[in-house]
Amino acid sequence: MEQLSNKEILRYSRHLKLPSFGIHAQRKLKQSKVLLIGAGGLGCPIGLYLAAAGVGAMVLVDDDVVEVHNLQRQVAHGTAGAGSPKVDSLRKRLHDLNPHVQLTTHQRRLNADWIMDVIADCDLVIDGTDNFATRYLVADACHLAKKPLVYGAIYQFEGQVSLFVPGEPGGCYRCLFPEAPSAGAAPSCDEAGVLGILPGTIGLMMANEAVKFLCDLGETLSGYLLMYDALAPSMRRLKLNRDPACALCGDQPTITRAETAAAGCAIQPPALEVPEISVAEAHQAGNQGAVFLDVRGVHEFDICHVRGAELIPLPTLDAESAGKLNRENQLIVYCHKGVRSRKATARLQALGFENVVSMRGGIDAWAEHIEPEMARY
Ligand SMILES: [Zn+2]
Repeated sequence: MEQLSNKEILRYSRHLKLPSFGIHAQRKLKQSKVLLIGAGGLGCPIGLYLAAAGVGAMVLVDDDVVEVHNLQRQVAHGTAGAGSPKVDSLRKRLHDLNPHVQLTTHQRRLNADWIMDVIADCDLVIDGTDNFATRYLVADACHLAKKPLVYGAIYQFEGQVSLFVPGEPGGCYRCLFPEAPSAGAAPSCDEAGVLGILPGTIGLMMANEAVKFLCDLGETLSGYLLMYDALAPSMRRLKLNRDPACALCGDQPTITRAETAAAGCAIQPPALEVPEISVAEAHQAGNQGAVFLDVRGVHEFDICHVRGAELIPLPTLDAESAGKLNRENQLIVYCHKGVRSRKATARLQALGFENVVSMRGGIDAWAEHIEPEMARY
């Protein structure tokens, strides 16, 4: 068992005074190695509190760079770090918070080729990602390698937390959600929005599960799904059971090795063949009488929109709502980044619109190239 130095005893003294925690649990933390996947909304609070608590070693994996719109919730990063890799930004902050923690970073997306290598010597895996391809890959790899997995997910104002321990009666992530949704079916935080505080709340519940599991304290969420609603506010605990028909942990499993899931990141554009134009072409066409159709939500329209644009949010775009649109002029459809507008353009074509195009890059590209004073989000 790892010994604690005098400096560490001073640092962790409030843990050591806790009768049920004490020096024994602190030593267990020190000898633990945790793989933290994702250095974003969940990864920031998880990383900060696990480093502060004294986890011995952490491996950080993320392929993204810090952007200003991350900072509403990704609190380990800073304004000055915009543009730098998230793993570098998080490592600096964690090292400053607790230099006793051994930190390793990988600035790359996890894939099936190296996930088994990277989890092999970790005691616990924590999934703080926001895309389904990685989530299923991690869940499969953890079960196959017999590694416990702390799971958390957030959506707008709601979150979920659980702990999956291979061999325990609660089953695995696939018992709960057997299949990944198809690309584009589930929106990501980028598309759907998220309350900035929510990943903090859920991330800390995940960190709490990690500490209890590593130190053998109290009861964990193994066998339960904790569901939190920030608006109600309410918390519910659902009992989980292993599904004997589960493809991963069932009686006759069909998943026998980790593979990069077919489901893409939720913001991947669907493979639709629709006509597209650039924002510069759209700007020119607008000056010549083309009509702009905004298919985002009302609250997004309120942030910014192309002058004179009509608004029909994508979920309400049908024959009736499209009936009021002028068919004489070219119709230029746009959304935030050019994903929803492609769906809308395909739908309008199906409704008989012939002169309709999708604006590539959406209003975000418009703000960047045409109206630099426009608000971006
Ligand atoms: Zn299962």
